[in-house]
Amino acid sequence: MTVASRLDAGGFTGPDYPLAGAIPLNLMASKGPTRSGERGMMKHKITLIPGDGIGPEVTAATLKVIEAAGIEVEWETINAGADAFEKHGQYLPDELMDSIHRNRVAIKGPISTPVGKGFSSINVALRKALMLYANFRPIKNLPGVKTRFENVDIIVVRENTEDLYSGLEHVVVPGVVESLKIITAEASTRIARFAFEYARRHGRKKITSIHKANIMKLSDGLFLECVRNVAHLYPEIAYEEMIVDNTCMQMVLDPQQFDVMLLENLYGDIVSDLGAGLVGGLGLVPGANLGEDCAIFEPAHGSAPKIAGKSMANPTAMLLSAVLMFQHLGESEKASLIASAVEKVYAHGKARTPDLGGTTSTTQFADAVVQHLVN
Ligand code: ATP
Repeated sequence: MTVASRLDAGGFTGPDYPLAGAIPLNLMASKGPTRSGERGMMKHKITLIPGDGIGPEVTAATLKVIEAAGIEVEWETINAGADAFEKHGQYLPDELMDSIHRNRVAIKGPISTPVGKGFSSINVALRKALMLYANFRPIKNLPGVKTRFENVDIIVVRENTEDLYSGLEHVVVPGVVESLKIITAEASTRIARFAFEYARRHGRKKITSIHKANIMKLSDGLFLECVRNVAHLYPEIAYEEMIVDNTCMQMVLDPQQFDVMLLENLYGDIVSDLGAGLVGGLGLVPGANLGEDCAIFEPAHGSAPKIAGKSMANPTAMLLSAVLMFQHLGESEKASLIASAVEKVYAHGKARTPDLGGTTSTTQFADAVVQHLVN
């Protein structure tokens, strides 16, 4: 079934996510993720990739909260990246890919990518190998987190499979390097359908397509052409286009003007970090990578090596990624329970990790969320 026909057949569903609007893709509508156990006592089978850097710390905090929330999960824990290479001789172990294919749902901590040398990004490789074409990041103020702007509520939809992330680079002659930016009509139309369908199903009013088609007339021009073709099918949703540099200025001047932002891969990466800064930083923004068959939930942040191992990381982004995941798995009640416990911790204003100016450790923050699960 094509993406378009799945959309027409109502394949994209999903309950509301209290902090962000919703998760747009519920795979249970198709084949469904793996579960085990007796009827009425269904356990979710989920692949867990702890990652590296601060990954294992935010993962441990998240597991603690999930357990306290009473969600039955059978975790299949398999790492990727440098840790996996030491253990399995592979950066992306076959065992991990088999597990994700089987379970169809994974949650992942950040995995470091060496800068300028070494192995290619495991994050990008996973997204490409599993065709997780949509990257979804809700950027929204949390109660009690003081930032320059209030009422920011943006959904960033980023194309996840191509653009300059194709990894096609070569030395033309010494001193000259070529990096290929790949934009296809297929991937551009697919991500546009995803964004518009999300907006329609979740009452979003406007989509802003971000580009630099004044310079990259062919590649970004094709992206825009594909998005415009899809926009015609959704007359009730306002559609506008904005050049990426102006977008960055507009975001720091008047972020409330944005509703759903639709971007190619690289612009999406940059703009989501900028958006995270608007609501208090990378420690707060969750994410999902969604495809036809599988979904991987992961925070927007990287492995933050400088604070790794110090229990200083903010686990909120990972916790809210778990909220998105449980929404996706149809555990709306439990997902809301965790989301509102996180909100209560922030609203109370006592527990703050160092990124937000406090002294609360990663584990203490998780404990505070656990306390608010019941109170
Ligand atoms: P990548 O390219 O792998 O996504 P990045 O370049 O975006 O990584 P990060 O590792 O996300 O970089 O870190 C960027 C900044 O945000 C660093 O100062 C880091 O300490 C901070 N940061 C990221 N995540 C968290 C977190 N969960 N808690 C506290 N600070 C964080």
